[in-house]
Amino acid sequence: MSYVEISNVYKRYEMGETTIVANNDINFSIDKGEFVVILGPSGAGKSTVLNILGGMDSCDEGNILVDGVDIAKFNERKLTTYRRIDVGFVFQFYNLVPNLTAKENVELASQVSPKALDVDAVLEQVGLVNRKSNFPAQLSGGEQQRVAIARALAKNPKLLLCDEPTGALDYETGKQILKLLQDSCRKTGTTVIVITHNSAISPMADRVIRINDAKVRSIEVNENPTPVE
Ligand code: ADP
Ligand code: ADP
Repeated sequence: MSYVEISNVYKRYEMGETTIVANNDINFSIDKGEFVVILGPSGAGKSTVLNILGGMDSCDEGNILVDGVDIAKFNERKLTTYRRIDVGFVFQFYNLVPNLTAKENVELASQVSPKALDVDAVLEQVGLVNRKSNFPAQLSGGEQQRVAIARALAKNPKLLLCDEPTGALDYETGKQILKLLQDSCRKTGTTVIVITHNSAISPMADRVIRINDAKVRSIEVNENPTPVE
């Protein structure tokens, strides 16, 4: 059994008279500790499946096995615990709390997890020791994303789910963020999933899942993923 097994997942959104099928029989598996890229154009259904996997949205049909447990069968209370403890999220626009410092943003997340890591160690891992007393508005985009990654990693989650993490960054900064995510995956053994519409990212992944028009179109396993240089 794989660490993550998504099978026969359907998700529809009712918009008045019309039904949008966002996920149409999605199937894929991921091994523990993999660095995975989900690739596809805007509107393909990538965020939908990531949100379902992260317990932020529910599917209409299907099974979502994470570490052997089907989270599709969870009630709200169990989903909340799962989101808090087992999943770290990284978003395109960082979603930091503006009136808390970098360190306080990370502490906030670690406080809700019983298996949280040492906050200073995580800040060091993401290269933010000199910036920990700064507020988000005093940090560059790349630095804010590092805080968001530290916040997610501090929970020591089973899954680190990243939705277009470099979408708001310039090319060089984006590369550094991807390298940080890849390094974190290798160092901590965390399973990392990055969704993107940028195919330039795919060579660095252990597994590339292409989604288009609500379906998985291909799955490719890279035996020799190229590190970002
Ligand atoms: P991607 O992440 O690949 O850009 P999404 O998963 O965000 O794609 O969206 C897939 C489809 O589902 C799109 O047509 C989008 O408009 C639609 N969709 C996503 N979320 C909602 C929602 N909350 N309500 C209605 N439609 C939605
Ligand atoms: P970017 O090129 O990523 O947009 P910026 O030009 O915004 O970066 O910032 C460059 C450097 O200046 C960063 O290290 C950032 O932390 C620092 N910086 C930007 N704004 C402030 C501020 N208001 N207070 C303190 N440092 C700042």
